[in-house]
Amino acid sequence: MSEENYIGENGLLYCGVCHEPKEPRWENGEAIFGSNRHPCPCRCERERQAKLDQELREINHRLRVAELRRSCFAYPAMYGWSFANASIQTERLEQCRRYAENWSTVSNQNAGLLFWGDVGTGKTYLAACIANALIEQEIPVRMTNLAAVINHGFEDWEAYIHRLCSCPLLILDDLGMERDTKFGLETVYDVIDGRYLSGKPLIVTTNLMLREMQKETDLDKRRIYDRVLTMTTPLFFGRENLRNAGKKEKLALMKTLIAEPERRDYENGHHLV
Ligand SMILES: [Zn+2]
Repeated sequence: MSEENYIGENGLLYCGVCHEPKEPRWENGEAIFGSNRHPCPCRCERERQAKLDQELREINHRLRVAELRRSCFAYPAMYGWSFANASIQTERLEQCRRYAENWSTVSNQNAGLLFWGDVGTGKTYLAACIANALIEQEIPVRMTNLAAVINHGFEDWEAYIHRLCSCPLLILDDLGMERDTKFGLETVYDVIDGRYLSGKPLIVTTNLMLREMQKETDLDKRRIYDRVLTMTTPLFFGRENLRNAGKKEKLALMKTLIAEPERRDYENGHHLV
């Protein structure tokens, strides 16, 4: 059967594929600009256009996601830290996945998280997974560590703090690892207090023990930890969270953990939890 357009018995042009008229007459037999017909896309043309629109939306989405990743992370390796890429599935990973999936509720309730516990149990990795999952939904996230915040140039400090605090989700990695000076602690307090006042959720990771944070006697640290504990629900990360992992996976994990965080991705070509 020919797929070429043809003139129907009524004298109108029809599409040879979908057999819809390509130039139907105006209703009521009217003539506009001297013609009683008007061009009209047939089903094939409508479908082609819909596909192009969809492709354009997809391209715009990828561009937006790439831009959000660049403004979220300090290290490009973290762009790929996702739930799907994690080499081990754990209960914590599932909880973090649910947190990201239920973002509108989490966000409305201003529900923050505190990942605390042993070094090398995937706290940073899972926090980045949450960030990437939200970024996929085009939700802006900022993830930084407080040492970087303290070392940030002060040429536009207020704008910098505003950027951190106005973001839908702020992730502060490695609380307690920053310089322990009066200036450092004041800066940390400024960021955390700014975030508190914004009424938006915060995720903090720390190698400090929850007990240490609750019983801190140094007043400058105490006010920081009190704010963090008010804003977050603590989630313990321990070695036992990893016990369900297979032996081979554990070996891969241990190798991964001793690498620098920003290099893990490159060196191992896979991801820990
Ligand atoms: Zn057609």
